[in-house]
Amino acid sequence: MNPKYMPQEIEEKWQRRWLDERTFRVTERSDRPKYYILEMFPYPSGRIHMGHVRNYSIGDVVARYKRMRGFNVLHPIGWDAFGMPAENAAIEKGAHPARWTRDNIAYMKRQLKRLGFSYDWDREIATCDPSYYRWEQWLFLRMLEKDLAYRRKTEVNWCDSCATVLANEQVEQGECWRCGTQVTQKELHGWFFRITKFADELLSWTERLPGWPPQVLTMQRNWIGKSFGAEADFPLADREGTIRIFTTRPDTLHGVTFMSLAPEHPLVTELVRGTDREAEVLGFCDRVRREDKIKRSSEDYEKAGVFTGAYARNHLTGEKIPIFVANFVLMEYGTGAIMAVPAHDQRDFDFARKYGLPIRVVIQPDGRELDGRTMTEAYVDEGRLANSGRFDGMPNLEAIGAITDYLAEKGWGAHAVNYRIRDWGISRQRYWGAPIPVVHCERCGILPVPEKDLPVTLPEDIEFPQGRVLPLAEIPSFYETTCPRCSAPAKRETDTMDTFVESSWYFDRYACPDFDQGMLDRGRTEYWMPVDQYIGGIEHAVLHLLYSRFYTKVLRDFEIAKVDEPFTNLLTQGMVCMETQRCPNHGWLLPEEVKDGACTRCGEGVEKGRTEKMSKSKKNVVDPEHLVATYGADTARLFSLFAAPPEKDLEWNEEGVEGSSRFLRRLWRLVADNHEWLRTTRPFTAGPLDGSKRDVRRKVHETIVRVTENIEDRFHFNTAIAAAMELVNELASFEPADDEGRRVFREAVDVLLKVLSPMVPHATEELWEALGNGTPLALTSWPGWDRAALAKDTVVVVVQVNGKVRGRVEVAPDASEDVVRNAAISDANVGRFLEGFSIAKAVYVPGRILNLVLR
Ligand SMILES: [Zn+2]
Ligand SMILES: [Zn+2]
Ligand SMILES: [Zn+2]
Repeated sequence: MNPKYMPQEIEEKWQRRWLDERTFRVTERSDRPKYYILEMFPYPSGRIHMGHVRNYSIGDVVARYKRMRGFNVLHPIGWDAFGMPAENAAIEKGAHPARWTRDNIAYMKRQLKRLGFSYDWDREIATCDPSYYRWEQWLFLRMLEKDLAYRRKTEVNWCDSCATVLANEQVEQGECWRCGTQVTQKELHGWFFRITKFADELLSWTERLPGWPPQVLTMQRNWIGKSFGAEADFPLADREGTIRIFTTRPDTLHGVTFMSLAPEHPLVTELVRGTDREAEVLGFCDRVRREDKIKRSSEDYEKAGVFTGAYARNHLTGEKIPIFVANFVLMEYGTGAIMAVPAHDQRDFDFARKYGLPIRVVIQPDGRELDGRTMTEAYVDEGRLANSGRFDGMPNLEAIGAITDYLAEKGWGAHAVNYRIRDWGISRQRYWGAPIPVVHCERCGILPVPEKDLPVTLPEDIEFPQGRVLPLAEIPSFYETTCPRCSAPAKRETDTMDTFVESSWYFDRYACPDFDQGMLDRGRTEYWMPVDQYIGGIEHAVLHLLYSRFYTKVLRDFEIAKVDEPFTNLLTQGMVCMETQRCPNHGWLLPEEVKDGACTRCGEGVEKGRTEKMSKSKKNVVDPEHLVATYGADTARLFSLFAAPPEKDLEWNEEGVEGSSRFLRRLWRLVADNHEWLRTTRPFTAGPLDGSKRDVRRKVHETIVRVTENIEDRFHFNTAIAAAMELVNELASFEPADDEGRRVFREAVDVLLKVLSPMVPHATEELWEALGNGTPLALTSWPGWDRAALAKDTVVVVVQVNGKVRGRVEVAPDASEDVVRNAAISDANVGRFLEGFSIAKAVYVPGRILNLVLR
């Protein structure tokens, strides 16, 4: 064998063989238990980045490990292929989005293959293929039929730069999640999925997902935002009409001293029409509506409002209370109107102080009396009711129910539950997405495209004008059609679906990617689903992971699939981070643009910035392709697995990469240097040994235990690798003197190759083959450990004197109490504490503790 480790050569060889022999292809016909491991599929942006390498290396270790543990492992890959970057690239580079996407897929596919991931490539999916999205369109029609999809006019989050609508989940701190542009509001017709219908189920199932990180479940619960309370009506004081509010605190209803409406509330215009307040109020509304909603509901947002000049009446007190418009009230939550109780709500308190509104205490704490005029902050804890008429003296928690009952009895309100989650807006006014399969007819209204006419194919033979991608609304050859009912000229829907619809069911489709008789082949889908282990970034905690759960429940209700939840276990891996570097003249610099602390373009000293997530904008990136070309895929994989446990952030460092590469060369030499005799030596299997042979074999089996436990229980690949490294060190200094010793060495090498193979599959396969094995390592079974080999020659017994630890002695595991006692007494340290005393009693816990009680 080659005495030198040549990663490029052997990696290519094994990648070819795995593909040619379809080593990782799986079917549903197996006696083995199934195991479905999945990493979130990539967007074909052009190139693989280090985040991908890490994510997929983690998944691949689990896939390869489970395969060796005897599971029938499904480990597929595909492409989340629709979406805006394709259109942006088209605008910038003049490439057709479809061609750009397919070229990127081809390129990235080569890159993934170059990393040696054990995918079943026969199941590859690209969501932009009509054979995929036709079933999504088909499901859309079923959802339409069952009123789970509907169209309405709505105020939407709008990104000017992306020229499209964004779901609330896609707005981050008021900015577009993709491009960072400030989001504005716009009125549009759009299609929605009724996710709110599943709010309760989505919420209650968060209690039944013990394999998910708690913080992800918390984020989902907060997003769903279920609260219990009451609805109450406030009639307008000087005109017809009422304002309905939702409150979680009906116990404070007597303390309402003003009300606030959202600037979007339709009543606002009505209340101020023709009054001297009109200009000021409408001007205020205009300004606020341009601001972002997420920011508006954040705690540190500067609260502001304006008086409408109108009043409402509080049924419970009979009082007239002023109606304001306030910037922090949102139409989306509750009814778009709130009652304000400044004494018992901090936001209302701040607002009341700012605008000089009265503060009335209606809950008094035990043992002191609050005064609205002198309070410095709202009182939000428990107490007894005051200034509340017939409810005075009642504990406030009791009053919540009592006052709501009273409202209901009087016809002024009712018990109510409120959710923060809104229906999922899926309409995008973009070209590169799955067309929504409906037709608008002037006479017949909105009609579904007949099932036999699916898919509604996205026209790909479009010439785009310079620097622009046409939305479907500007492509007559697409939208001109005839009405499926009356045959009159009609117009196709020109909105496309949010790409999160495609990613809400791709994991189901991997079970049966070739199925053309329906959306899913029930038998195969039921065999594989749910995904046993899902791996992806925490940035998807709400968006993708919530939508996928919703879609799964829809598919279940339609009897297309069976499971309640798609992902049994979820691992959210940390980010890949790197130090940023900046030149005073050239801004952010790539690592290769810095030499000896200076900018290679101008020689100016470089400022080191913070270590943050690798990103193109800050240029703190390493190209995995370069890494693989220099060191090989195994080194890239080993580094990304060894540098940190998967859930933690990984900080890039070149020394770490060097270290990984060095370790692989060591491993190689360990086999190459002993290759001649290793080949012809059978591994040791069982039996008594002594001396260093016994020690080495114990180490071998301890390594199996450590690696297995760290992979199986914790996914702590870094500690698993560390254990294997220790074994390599031990073997490096073991010189077998006889045949028995060589057999121990051979067993050790076999174990090493097996336990390292999930992490560094190429090098280990090559060495395995060099040792004369026929079956690929990937298809062998995981080593078990030999209890006898783990047994120790000696045990360490802790010696206590009068209950305090005074020393330790090493004895045979089966040593008698007398032997242990004599060893303890002759131990110098223990001896010091015995001087001048005699031993009254000894208590011995065999193999662990000896306690000497002195007289
Ligand atoms: Zn944008
Ligand atoms: Zn018609
Ligand atoms: Zn420079």
